[in-house]
Amino acid sequence: MNAPGPTAVFGGTFNPFHCGHLGSARDLLDALPLHELRFVPAAQPPHRKLPGVSAEDRAAMVELAIADDPRLRCDRRELERDGPSYTVDTLESLREELGAETCLLLVMGCDAVQGLPHWHRWEQLVELAHIVVLARPGWRLPREGVVHDFMQQRGGTAQDLLRAPCGRVHVQQLAPRDVSATAIRALLQSGGAVSHLLPGPVIQYIRDHGLYGAAPTTQE
Ligand code: ATP
Repeated sequence: MNAPGPTAVFGGTFNPFHCGHLGSARDLLDALPLHELRFVPAAQPPHRKLPGVSAEDRAAMVELAIADDPRLRCDRRELERDGPSYTVDTLESLREELGAETCLLLVMGCDAVQGLPHWHRWEQLVELAHIVVLARPGWRLPREGVVHDFMQQRGGTAQDLLRAPCGRVHVQQLAPRDVSATAIRALLQSGGAVSHLLPGPVIQYIRDHGLYGAAPTTQE
């Protein structure tokens, strides 16, 4: 069997899934010749308190938002496991599914990359996948320290990534999107406008299910 084409994995709490996630994923698909990009909602994020919104609801919002784009997929494997949703476990199970030769890209914002040394078995992540780092407004890449050194040692171009199944770290320049789930939750609670920050089906789902204390009188 031929290895599937390059596959990107974009994990997160997605609480809620917003236009920063969706727009960055689409830009990445335009920038790199990927076979597909999978969003992987974390059931139990290891480094945050359990989100007030269930993993089932968070995954449902991802699925609704990407329903019209065949290049995007929601991968529910972390919802099907017990215990903390460690990315290294997810990559191991993806490797089993996709085979040793498939180019696998783990996508994360540059806020997430700063915390990498706190991730479970973090040094094994690049033995399973490449890491693609996306710029995020308000965040800069580290200029020294463990993550800086790691990025220097493992640094590679987009072409380097596509030539191997794993092992490199690449910073992909995309249009930055000043959106965060924290700011969106605050806006929803205060009745602020969110239509420019959330995909339409996500707004509808939040309203239908009464999530985030969304004020019913929210004006758009
Ligand atoms: P919060 O505000 O609660 O921290 P978040 O918006 O950062 O949430 P997460 O679900 O924690 O959302 O993020 C999942 C991944 O998406 C992380 O790797 C994060 O860096 C990345 N990400 C989130 N927002 C953006 C954005 N606007 N641009 C690029 N990457 C983003």
